[in-house]
Amino acid sequence: MRALVWDAPRVMTLREQEQPAPAPKEVLIHVAFAGICGSELGAFLGHNALRVPPLVMGHEFAGTVAALGAEAVACNPALRTGLPVTVNPLSSCDACPACLRGDGHLCPKRRLIGAHRPGAYAEYVCVPAESVLPLPPGLTPREGALAEPVAVAVRIGALAGPLAGEPAFIAGAGPIGLLALQVLRLLGAGPIFVSDLEPTRLAMAEELGGHPIDARHNDPAQVVRDATGGLGATASVDAVGAAPTRAACIAATRSAGTLILSGLHEEVGPIPAAEVIRRELVLRGSFAYSPADFRHAVALLARSAVRLDPWVVEAALAEGGPWFERLAHAPGGVAKVLLVP
Ligand SMILES: [Zn+2]
Ligand SMILES: [Zn+2]
Repeated sequence: MRALVWDAPRVMTLREQEQPAPAPKEVLIHVAFAGICGSELGAFLGHNALRVPPLVMGHEFAGTVAALGAEAVACNPALRTGLPVTVNPLSSCDACPACLRGDGHLCPKRRLIGAHRPGAYAEYVCVPAESVLPLPPGLTPREGALAEPVAVAVRIGALAGPLAGEPAFIAGAGPIGLLALQVLRLLGAGPIFVSDLEPTRLAMAEELGGHPIDARHNDPAQVVRDATGGLGATASVDAVGAAPTRAACIAATRSAGTLILSGLHEEVGPIPAAEVIRRELVLRGSFAYSPADFRHAVALLARSAVRLDPWVVEAALAEGGPWFERLAHAPGGVAKVLLVP
């Protein structure tokens, strides 16, 4: 089979590899679409300790079941060959306190497909049978491949607190910012301000119902405060994770409001702590998604409640390397690239 192998920082090679065979509790998936994620862009550039080359990345994907391990159906009775599916790429131990309260994504033994084991930038990928979710009727594999980033946004919405009728602010109109915008709207938040440096991405946010703020020419926090009678947003979401966006979110959030830290552009950086203290802000990390968040994301996609179209681009696996370079520098009017193995 063909696989796109990340060999070293900024080196992606299309290579013939042996097709993997599923272990007893695994399933072989024929990949239809596999999205490129911001975390993988960071790895591609060499900024990510989680992923070690050589590696087949790819954790946002959908396809069809091609083969079943001997115990796969016992693990997940819904499975049969030919079934269109998506996959929750995070697996956990199912036994620790985090897993037992439904937070498998916080399990100390969690593993990610495309990081700890080969991922979906290939014609075929083996995955744990219990991680496979059948696509509901009407949900295509193309949309199903978005379940993972949608689940990240679902988690952000779940942690942001009650937002009906409340103003919100999102720093960053990349895929997670655009999906969080839609999830916060579904939760009743409004108005929702979205800042970015890229006019094409601000146009996407505006089309999805956000109030765009061009951070090249405006102070986003000032715009949010001016529009909210000086109070600020009830909740802010940092979907970038750089020092300026963290600071902007702190300044844009009203006293006793909540700031969700999601983006991880910089792992370590300064934050204006005195303002967090003096205005009793709640800083909350949001990481990935629980298994329930992932199922909720599939349901949202099935009822067309969230979208990244018309800004989704399909590209052949061989074009993956050039797309990684382009996304890392000048993505332009593209919200998500789906590789088609
Ligand atoms: Zn992702
Ligand atoms: Zn666990």
